[in-house]
Amino acid sequence: MISYKELGLVNTREMFAKAVEGGYAIPAFNFNNMEQLQAIIQASAELKSPVILQVSKGARNYANQTLLRYMAEGAVEYAKELGWEHPQIVLHLDHGDSFEVCKSCVDLGFSSVMIDASSLPYDENVALTKKVVDYAHQFDVTVEAELGVLAGVEDEVASEESHYTRPEEVIDFTSKTGCDSLAISIGTSHGAYKFKPEQCTRDPKSGILIPPPLAFDVLEEIEKKLPGFPIVLHGSSSVPQEYVKIINENGGKLPDAVGIPEEQLRMASKSAVCKINIDSDSRLAMTAAIRKIFNEKPGEFDPRKYLGPARDEMKKLYMHKIVNVLGSDNKAL
Ligand SMILES: [Zn+2]
Repeated sequence: MISYKELGLVNTREMFAKAVEGGYAIPAFNFNNMEQLQAIIQASAELKSPVILQVSKGARNYANQTLLRYMAEGAVEYAKELGWEHPQIVLHLDHGDSFEVCKSCVDLGFSSVMIDASSLPYDENVALTKKVVDYAHQFDVTVEAELGVLAGVEDEVASEESHYTRPEEVIDFTSKTGCDSLAISIGTSHGAYKFKPEQCTRDPKSGILIPPPLAFDVLEEIEKKLPGFPIVLHGSSSVPQEYVKIINENGGKLPDAVGIPEEQLRMASKSAVCKINIDSDSRLAMTAAIRKIFNEKPGEFDPRKYLGPARDEMKKLYMHKIVNVLGSDNKAL
């Protein structure tokens, strides 16, 4: 049993309370490798933004859970080296799908876990979430739960049909489970293809798809039922069209990739939404940078010469999100 406190990590309780109060949101960035982690920490340290490092099932399979935990420990020290005296870094399990997985992460030094039992019937979701909360809270680890179903595919989380969170369930669910934050479904979705073309309208000039708006009425209803309770949005990448363009111009093929407009995420950040998950956008930044180099310099075979620029591009993206979308800069001085 390792306590996250010994690793210099923090849980989400205080940072969420401040974010709800201050009308901003904390970035939750997924990481799978060193370059991504360096980019996240550099961006957060420079901007003094609290940050959540997320580890998905796909990341655990790809990079190994133990290694990722030690990388997060290294990230705290790295942040200090970069001049961030009191780094506020959370190590969070994204989409834990069983009690055992959540327990193993708590025992390994994660400071926050998500139990995603949203695909189960309501009562089973309540029971499993409560079991995880009861275990995690003994060690002051915070727990995110989910109500409602998101569409899309990302790291072994897949659903064909989405349905919005039912506002009439949220009071019962949070009081019965004791969860610390709640992921809701209001029209965001996982992956780089968040909407089918027939769900969107098309900009007549550029031909780019314009997605349907998020269900802010559902969010408002939930906020009314749970004043000040931390709300989480998954699947909130914006799929920047400049990256899609670079990818497609350099041998890639991402037709009609579409995400959530940043303007809507900015609005959400000002509400009780205090954690916004962004994964696909950093994948796109990395892929765009690497494809461009491969195309322009076919003789390049030193991985540092393409992973380095990819890292710089991801850092730029993370800084943009922190300052221009979430508003979390200078909140962890
Ligand atoms: Zn998710």
